[in-house]
Amino acid sequence: MLNDNKPKVGIGACLVGHAVRYSGDAKKRSHVLDKLSETMDMLPLCPEVAIGLPVPREPIRIVENDSGIYVKDSESQTVDYAEPLRTFANEMAEKHSDFAGYIFVKGSPSCGFERVKRYNDKGNALPNTGVGVYAQQLMDNDPLLPVEENGRLHDPNLRENFVRRVHAYHEWKQINRTGEVPTLHQLSRFYSRYKYLVMAHSITTYKAIGRLLSKPDRQNPQRQADQFIDMLMTALKSSATRKGYTNALSHIKGYLKRDISSTERISIDDVIDQYRTGDVPLIVPVTLLNHYFNTYPNDYIGQQTFLQNSVIPAKAGI
Ligand code: SF4
Repeated sequence: MLNDNKPKVGIGACLVGHAVRYSGDAKKRSHVLDKLSETMDMLPLCPEVAIGLPVPREPIRIVENDSGIYVKDSESQTVDYAEPLRTFANEMAEKHSDFAGYIFVKGSPSCGFERVKRYNDKGNALPNTGVGVYAQQLMDNDPLLPVEENGRLHDPNLRENFVRRVHAYHEWKQINRTGEVPTLHQLSRFYSRYKYLVMAHSITTYKAIGRLLSKPDRQNPQRQADQFIDMLMTALKSSATRKGYTNALSHIKGYLKRDISSTERISIDDVIDQYRTGDVPLIVPVTLLNHYFNTYPNDYIGQQTFLQNSVIPAKAGI
């Protein structure tokens, strides 16, 4: 039973111990996925088994020619599984419209997210720029859906970026689940929690969203909502920079100015500057600010996702 309060994330079934691979086994379960599953409800799916392929089975691969992209048995190459895989992806996109993310499987002609092997009709290898057919169709159905691949999730920065996008998209889907177009008030309230995170990722988008939400689009509120979430998710997908984080930290610090002494202000400035110059990781100024906001609570800052530990890369390169 999936929990409404946790984001629902689709995942290749072979990654979570289901013995559904062509070879008849599962992939080795990773501690990273175990950790992620504490805050996400993972829904395991195996598209190849779902379209009726047996376990074990002959491996399949992507075949490309001038007329299109196909998925065929590696040896016999008689049957094309591309359309059944696309149809299954469409069904899953409709059935699980509350998906807040998806974890794909490295290298799979069905579930691979990038750099999947491709072949021509003669069996010669093409450049490894393929995308699994099922994965591609899911992404076409929901271009904003946060997606990652099992291997890439071992990188702390990519993992944390995925986590923050999944949680943001989950929250967005909760707002939209009534089917009614969100009001400007709802958009602004939602955005108020992400404002400084967006500032850290993209100052350009931060300003653009500010303009977008400055007045209601009375003619087409749906367009305003669509533009908003597109801008927000695109900004979060890009990497936040040290400069962006420093800017956001300085703005957040401003909310303490009436409460702290000049000595405390100087010590916070010092730590933010140490972060700016790369002498301390992000967790240091964030922890210090959290300490001061615990002492001098501020409702607006207290709800900022920026100050939550989950958004801070565990081994910061930034
Ligand atoms: S990669 Fe996808 S299709 Fe292949 S076994 Fe895993 S879940 Fe099934």
